[in-house]
Amino acid sequence: MKTSQESMKDIGISLIQKRGVEINDIVEIVYDLQKSYISGLTKATCADAVDRVLGKREVQYAILTGVELDRLAEENKLSEPILSLIKKDNPLYGIDEILALSICNVYGSIGLTNFGYVDKIKPGIIGILDKKGKEEQQCHTFLDDLIGAIAAAAASSVAHNAVL
Ligand code: MG
Repeated sequence: MKTSQESMKDIGISLIQKRGVEINDIVEIVYDLQKSYISGLTKATCADAVDRVLGKREVQYAILTGVELDRLAEENKLSEPILSLIKKDNPLYGIDEILALSICNVYGSIGLTNFGYVDKIKPGIIGILDKKGKEEQQCHTFLDDLIGAIAAAAASSVAHNAVL
């Protein structure tokens, strides 16, 4: 399979959109994370940062992997015990967070701090995904962490660019 970096980025974006997340949902989280630290911050700056993050190969592969596992769990196509662990978002499983951390690592320690914060307060679309995963026949065990990590990494990128 021959896939260029650009088309892998497009595949990643279309996968998260198919799972109910718009890029703008991520931009909103980035803006909220950084607005109190950077005066005059614009949503366009945050959107550029999200776009940079989505352009990274590590991020694209994490999206491909996590979304696939969520979808397979939703369709009961995994075997036990991993099916139940992912479907029920078992709090001790933790591999969803570990996968998402590979995204945060791209932008250093501010990314890690932001990721922990986002995971705790579940702002915007992350809270919605978390709720849908619990109440409906949907599985977003990996997706909520992936989106949190993309937002955290983009916030970190915004912060780094601002102090330069
Ligand atoms: Mg999760």
